Amino acid sequence: MKVTVTDGCISCGLCVESFPDLFHWNEEGTAEAVGQVPAGQEDQARQAVEDCPVSVIAAAE
Ligand code: SF4
Repeated sequence: MKVTVTDGCISCGLCVESFPDLFHWNEEGTAEAVGQVPAGQEDQARQAVEDCPVSVIAAAE
């Protein structure tokens, strides 16, 4: 599974704080995803997709 953040992140911090293995801040101060989801963290990735208030996180097989 791969997880990505597209344009429009409002830097609320939810994904970075909740799932630090999957998201971090980039130089622009917006969230960036790890890309390939580590084994066993697929549910966290799906949860991040659901939780993002502006729906800019995507996860796909
Ligand atoms: S949850 Fe969404 S809006 Fe908030 S920091 Fe993550 S990508 Fe940005």
